[in-house]
Amino acid sequence: MQAVIINEHGGPEVLRVGKMPNPEIGPLEVLIKVWSCGVNHVDLYLRRGIIGAEIPLPAIPGREVAGEVLEVGELVTDVYVGDRVTVIPRFPCGTCDPCKIGEEGMCLKATSIPGGYAEYTKAPSSSIVPLPPGVSYDMGASVALAYLTAWHMLITRAKVRSGEDVLVHAAGSGVGSGAIQIAKMAGARVIATAGTDTKLERALQIGADEVINYNQDNFKDMVIGITEGRGVDVVVEHIGTSTWENSIGCLAFNGRLVTSGAHTGVWGKVNIQELFIKQLSLIGSYLGTRHELGQLLNAVARGKVKPVIDSIYSMQNAQEAHALLEERRQFGKLLIKPWLK
Ligand SMILES: [Zn+2]
Repeated sequence: MQAVIINEHGGPEVLRVGKMPNPEIGPLEVLIKVWSCGVNHVDLYLRRGIIGAEIPLPAIPGREVAGEVLEVGELVTDVYVGDRVTVIPRFPCGTCDPCKIGEEGMCLKATSIPGGYAEYTKAPSSSIVPLPPGVSYDMGASVALAYLTAWHMLITRAKVRSGEDVLVHAAGSGVGSGAIQIAKMAGARVIATAGTDTKLERALQIGADEVINYNQDNFKDMVIGITEGRGVDVVVEHIGTSTWENSIGCLAFNGRLVTSGAHTGVWGKVNIQELFIKQLSLIGSYLGTRHELGQLLNAVARGKVKPVIDSIYSMQNAQEAHALLEERRQFGKLLIKPWLK
């Protein structure tokens, strides 16, 4: 099959289209014809070789897949040839302690989908989530990782409620554009940040109530001003060291900061006195579950969450997609369609 292959680590230029063997499925796996695949920061880490573990090369990037089931293993009973599906990006083992208590997102032995920038990929049937009618492959490939992360952060971990104020960082990112809509769906007022006025315009179009240009203004001062001194109930933090202290400073009494990423650095200071006197919660969040992806796709089918797609690329143009994401010039999702010539 044709695939985008990483033979050596480096910049976008190391992404090359070439031939790889077709995936062979086991008795509990399914073969998927990939119609669309989201481009994510994890793909950039894989390409650069800084994913926190040894990466066997050659590797195929792409963890956010939507496609059509072409073949099912002999023991698969709940997925059928021809099904339109998406896949949770991490495959839980089903046997470790977190898996046993239903916290599959915290699985200690999870493995990843073996690469979606390819004509075909495979996944265990237990990781498959059907696409509801009316949800396209492109929509499915837009939400299975970044929007799922935003859903888990807001709905499951921070338990956002109607009437609350939510600060969402980086409105143009996958997590940001998803979080704005999911917080709105839950009935919150959303304050979003971005680095350019064009992105702020787009943030307003997809539902943000208030916007802040973090290159022009101190976002903490602006949040305090917008909330008339109260602060926000929830901060969707996925930036890291550069925003951490001010993000905590934006919280109201009983506020929750939920974090799922640290692109700008992994260390952050906390004023312990402020933490206990204001009864703040600092909450970690990581990806989401198959059940949550099903709920999110239903919200997409009902038009409550509309995947924001910036642009679509063929495999030949994968380098361009990586460069765009690396420079954060996009608003919303970048997709690669392996069958687009
Ligand atoms: Zn497990």
